[in-house]
Amino acid sequence: MTTTLIKYKAKRNFKESPEPTGGRAEGKNLRFVIQKHHASQLHYDFRLEMDGVLKSWAVPKGPSTNPDVKRLAMMVEDHPYNYRSFEGIIPSGYGAGTVMVWDEGVYELADANGKDKRTQDKELNKGIYSGKLHFILHGKKLKGEYALVKTHGRGDNGWLLIKVKDKYVSNEDVTLKDKSVISKKTLTQIQKTTTNIYGAKRVNESRVKKEIESEKKTSLVKIIKVGRRAKFPAKLSPMLATLVDEPFDDEAWQFEIKWDGYRTIAFCNKSKVDLKSRNDKSFNERFYPVCKAIQDWNIKAVIDGEVVVLDQNGKSHFGSLQNWRSEADGEIYFYVFDILWLNGKDLMQSRV
Ligand code: MN
Repeated sequence: MTTTLIKYKAKRNFKESPEPTGGRAEGKNLRFVIQKHHASQLHYDFRLEMDGVLKSWAVPKGPSTNPDVKRLAMMVEDHPYNYRSFEGIIPSGYGAGTVMVWDEGVYELADANGKDKRTQDKELNKGIYSGKLHFILHGKKLKGEYALVKTHGRGDNGWLLIKVKDKYVSNEDVTLKDKSVISKKTLTQIQKTTTNIYGAKRVNESRVKKEIESEKKTSLVKIIKVGRRAKFPAKLSPMLATLVDEPFDDEAWQFEIKWDGYRTIAFCNKSKVDLKSRNDKSFNERFYPVCKAIQDWNIKAVIDGEVVVLDQNGKSHFGSLQNWRSEADGEIYFYVFDILWLNGKDLMQSRV
């Protein structure tokens, strides 16, 4: 806790837990984090805790301490609360690059007047809805009042991050302070030294690749010979499981696990990949790491499988999948059941 906060607490009778960085449940204060993120383009991810998640804005130029400088802040998807302490490397897919915890701390509504977290949460939510948020940051780099104001003409997600006049106003460029508040490293140093690699997409990729390879070796040569020539299919419905009365065992049958996930068909035309749900909805954006991994295979095929989120024991959890929004929400996998079409041949009538 900074001395600023101790003073602040004494002044406003703020009930702060001794370990504000503990869990979501213990924290009496709202927290914020700003992550400097060197993805395809350098930007700062500005995140405010609200309702147990992190409301997030990508700020290309980073925050300013000068009230005359308005910084564009594009609202992006909510991130899970535990994302706020992440510093390291996102290996591939959306947002691939190095992440630094540039600043962090607690924050409160500008006119909190001792209101508790839940009340502030409610008012902040109204602010999100009305497009105007005023809050006070108690960070290590950023202090004092800031505003996030929704702008017109920048699409649905365009906001401006603005410093509000108070004693913390400064003309110095605060982004020149370029070290992490947790590791004291620069982005380059983090990139070179971190062992903290987020997500498991590299693992997923090699795992699925192996499955495809083994499938190719065992049965592909055979089925391609018998496959019927067919155009690249535009639409297909996956074959669903048939309900039987009792479990059975039969040598003529191959059994697969019934996964608790989303049945997904991947239409792969080299680097153009379309992930489709059972109802022909696109999963491309929703499960972007899977899409990216399949793009990298660079194959012409239609693949039937299931997108799942696995826990440490390899069990799939449907709830985790439903809530999955980014690498922070768990390890995402695409389990391949079948190849329906490959290099100009329809393989559906000739399954072996
Ligand atoms: Mn980012």
